[in-house]
Amino acid sequence: MNFRRKKNGLLGLLLLSLSLVALLTYLSQPHQLPDLPRLPAQGNTATIFLIDGLSNDIFRKAMQQGKLPHIAALAAQGRYVENGIGSFPSMTGYAFFPFVTGTDAVQSGILGLRWFDRQRKNDKFRNYVGRTHIHMNTDILPEHRTFFEQYQPYYTASINSYMNRGVQEATMTGWAHTTAKYEGKSIFGWLRAIPYFGKYIAKNHFEHETAALEIALQQVAHNPKVHWITFPSPDAYNHVFGTDSTYWQLLTHIDSLIGRYVAEVNRLGQGGQRLIAIVSDHGISDVGRNIDICQYLYEHTGMVAERGTSVNVWTSQLTDDPILLDKSDAYFVINGNLCGYLYLKGGSDSLNAWTCQPDYSDITQWVKNDSAYNLLQVFANMEGIELVAAQTKLDHTKRTKPTRHCPHHPPPKDRWSIHVSVRHPKCRPPSLRALALLGRL
Ligand SMILES: [Zn+2]
Repeated sequence: MNFRRKKNGLLGLLLLSLSLVALLTYLSQPHQLPDLPRLPAQGNTATIFLIDGLSNDIFRKAMQQGKLPHIAALAAQGRYVENGIGSFPSMTGYAFFPFVTGTDAVQSGILGLRWFDRQRKNDKFRNYVGRTHIHMNTDILPEHRTFFEQYQPYYTASINSYMNRGVQEATMTGWAHTTAKYEGKSIFGWLRAIPYFGKYIAKNHFEHETAALEIALQQVAHNPKVHWITFPSPDAYNHVFGTDSTYWQLLTHIDSLIGRYVAEVNRLGQGGQRLIAIVSDHGISDVGRNIDICQYLYEHTGMVAERGTSVNVWTSQLTDDPILLDKSDAYFVINGNLCGYLYLKGGSDSLNAWTCQPDYSDITQWVKNDSAYNLLQVFANMEGIELVAAQTKLDHTKRTKPTRHCPHHPPPKDRWSIHVSVRHPKCRPPSLRALALLGRL
């Protein structure tokens, strides 16, 4: 009996070891493009490199110091826009929209990476972080064609972008990105220590960007009409460690990868037709302290504001939590990049509670527990807030038709206006910045 149990145990261990070796061997294989029909482009083509979270200041200094020779060579041959603003708010994904459509992101039908869509009947909290990123493509308005859609049936490809509706070949390297982002702060550091296989199981940022570029080199051989490549590491690294010397090294590494790509384009004879653009979605800011806006609002006004889930790890479904919606006065949505939105519950009846949008007077005389608060002032008094803006009188003709109107506030015909309250720059610590948009969003 004991012998049989021991034998079964050894067999199980052997099977487990063999499975582990098979998995590790699989992971260590270089990425192979799927077997797709690819129609090589005719005429001019374009490649867009998006460097996520590119510090304007550091980029400029690195260019001046000659640390980005490949990007500098491209800038010398083409155009260099030093202080361009791609979108406002400048936010991952949302800020890709102007580059993939040629249209201002305010026309996109979405308002950021996380936002709250009052006009939807259900699932108002739109959060594209995590597995729910798939909804970004379906939430952007269909009348704005992406360049992936524009150039069908030619082959198009994207790497690490979820604003890519219509692309023929979408590659995401999410596992490598996650292991790189949390390398020094999690089990991934231990996994990397496994001899030989470790670097395949858990890449660091440099290895991850190199692996993504090697996929891009395979793709460019098929002459994509549009080729989009995101380098996510500067943003991911800054979120965890700030802008130290490694951030600079990541930029020089990305520059060398762009150099490899350009050399391959020339080797393939595509140099005369291929436009190469290097863009960023937003800058970065080192954050030394965080502020809990929901807690602050509760302490100063009694407002119950909910944040919802920040990352959807387990599901790709976007479903509002009815309990959160029911018990809250407001939804505080962290869009990202030190920018947040506050959506106030509007209507008094439960059917229209979140669809109905508060007016300017509701925001400046918000009532809780028999007291009235000017919420713009409440925010402006808060340490770390740089800018407060409230949007009122939304022009519904500029967006999709609302599914339901609030019976007390019919949709106005006039254009929206933004009310802004700014504190004196010297009154705020530079590391604590946030923007809160109130009301009609
Ligand atoms: Zn970004």
